[in-house]
Amino acid sequence: MPKEIFDNLQLILDAITDGIVVVNHLGNVLYTNHSAERIFERDNLLGKTLAIPVNTNIDAPQEINLVRPSGIGWAELRAAPIQWQGKQAYVIGVRDITDSKLKDDRLRQAAAVFDNIRDGVMMVDDKLRITHINTAFTEITGYTEEEVIGKPSSLLRSGRHDTEFYTQMWHSIATTGHWQGEIWNRRKNSEVYPELLSISVVTDKSGIITHYVGVFADISKLKASELQLDFLAHHDPLTRLPNRLLLLSRLEHAIKIAQREEKTLALLMLDLDRFKEVNDSFGHLAGDELLQQVAQRLTSRLRSIDTVCRLGGDEFTILLEEITHLDDAALVATDLINALCEPWQLSKDTEVRIGVSIGISLYPDHGNKPEQLLQQADTALYHAKAEGRGCFKYFSENISHAARTRMDIEVRLRRGISEGELRVFYQPQVDINTGRIVGAEALVRWQDPLNGLVSPTLFIGLAEKTGLITSIGNWVLNEACSQGQRWLAAGLPPLTIAVNVSPYQFRYSHIDKVVNEVLTETGFPAHYLELELTESALMQREDEAILILERLHALGVTLAIDDFGTGYSSLSYLKLFPLDVLKIDKSFINDIPQYQSDREITATIIAIAHTLHLKVLAEGVETAAQLKFLQEQGCDLYQGYLTSPALPAAEFVQLLKKINK
Ligand code: C2E
Ligand code: CA
Ligand code: CA
Repeated sequence: MPKEIFDNLQLILDAITDGIVVVNHLGNVLYTNHSAERIFERDNLLGKTLAIPVNTNIDAPQEINLVRPSGIGWAELRAAPIQWQGKQAYVIGVRDITDSKLKDDRLRQAAAVFDNIRDGVMMVDDKLRITHINTAFTEITGYTEEEVIGKPSSLLRSGRHDTEFYTQMWHSIATTGHWQGEIWNRRKNSEVYPELLSISVVTDKSGIITHYVGVFADISKLKASELQLDFLAHHDPLTRLPNRLLLLSRLEHAIKIAQREEKTLALLMLDLDRFKEVNDSFGHLAGDELLQQVAQRLTSRLRSIDTVCRLGGDEFTILLEEITHLDDAALVATDLINALCEPWQLSKDTEVRIGVSIGISLYPDHGNKPEQLLQQADTALYHAKAEGRGCFKYFSENISHAARTRMDIEVRLRRGISEGELRVFYQPQVDINTGRIVGAEALVRWQDPLNGLVSPTLFIGLAEKTGLITSIGNWVLNEACSQGQRWLAAGLPPLTIAVNVSPYQFRYSHIDKVVNEVLTETGFPAHYLELELTESALMQREDEAILILERLHALGVTLAIDDFGTGYSSLSYLKLFPLDVLKIDKSFINDIPQYQSDREITATIIAIAHTLHLKVLAEGVETAAQLKFLQEQGCDLYQGYLTSPALPAAEFVQLLKKINK
């Protein structure tokens, strides 16, 4: 070592940044350089005691904490034993590592934060491949590190945003270095969820983008609570029904759709009768409970597409969408009036009775604006209340009147059915060649105490609309089979009894089951029962219709197509269905023999029906000329006033005996 080193040793030692300290075995400082004093932040260390370990060696540095006036620091020590003035001592190199240590810790802290924050963090490189993710990322997306590192970030895309959305996002990142917004992404389990995402760029020293960091929060829960807030804003807190605000927006929407599809809407305004009495006598809690129950009962009586709202107090509104007939609203109103009349069971064994008055406005009849319809329903409600409560009123008087008449009929018909006011008349079916009665069509009549004998043309339509037709039809079927069986038992020659089946009955009730039951109960032989179906019943959902017909056939009953020529009237189409008899509608028979076209049509129908192995029956034969023509064309059977109108059973038997003698 050059001599100069020794000469300048003190200077050299002071020049190095690491501290150099010599201590004896008690830790008393024997020597320090400048840096040591700087590191320990002590001016005069000589003779002082430093609590530093000496049992370390040059090659294995040891980290220690430094307690300094400015705070805690870190030092790295390397020690070596030396001889100092003939005694054992130690030279210690002290490196201040406080700065790097702090930086290191910050990193570790950052890493800890990275992993512990609830936000998902994802780093992608400049080619948008994922380089880092944190624990929350895995929790939110369901993807583990192994599954995503190196993969394109587009793996999370939900498909809910268009290219435009991503273009704008990247444009913002490129110009401002930042983007924040709500975005829908997709979890590993393919569930789509909303997240609040902020993306920042990471650049290197020269400003070139190396990475992008995305920090995101799963806001599906937040969204849910927003929805909750939204729900509260649009619903009545007591009944949880939609409020006026929501009603208006639904109404507006419904009007738009109804306009487009040319449909009718009805708005019902309800006001409870005697609600105030309940409130006054049983208290507000009872009143609230009643309102909740009313809400439930109303909702349960309506279709899911109908909107029930509470406007406040004891006022409710119902929006009926897609009503097929003006009377539908009246039917609903009547049903609700009846339903709310029923007693109410409140807690504490309280039973109360209330009623309801209803005002109805219709779109488009009464207007095309939400507020307008509400207003008019309200006016109608006022009139309903004035009329004496517990009733409904349309905004316009003549609709009210017409509906009420029909409703009256319905109410009376319902009662008539249960009171046994229906009758079955029998019209003979005659074999054209022999002139003998071989069967009878059962035709229903209603013996109305008020209006006398009512024709089915006046009530079958209404019965079909209200569903009453099923009970009427089943009753007629049962009555006709019982009668047929009684005739057989009385020794009359066997007759085919034809019973009409309404399209409604055919489609919505289990007709084959009902027929089977009736045959079993009455004992009437299946092969004497003929069911008359219309084309309209068969043409909808043919596959199902064929199945039902086959089941009926399997029971042994005969099947006829009624009113042929008034509907779809395709003979080749009829081939699809297992039928036995074709009944040519009266309208073709009427003008025979005057009109050539009717003659031709009738002749053709008979000929084709025969090639399809169908027997042909002509309806409504009133003249001998008509009968002669049908005979010439080979028609098999006929019905008509020429022989007889439909008759009560007893009269029918008399006629039968006279003709078939
Ligand atoms: P429909 O099935 O076509 O019955 C024939 C109708 O024509 C009967 O009228 C009958 O009285 C009438 N009629 C028969 N011969 C003549 C004639 O020579 N001249 C004229 N002008 N009319 C004749 P009705 O009994 O009033 O029945 C009308 C319709 O009511 C029936 O037409 C049928 O569609 C329906 N209907 C009757 N009873 C029932 C039933 O029990 N269930 C179902 N679903 N519908 C029934
Ligand atoms: Ca018929
Ligand atoms: Ca007919």
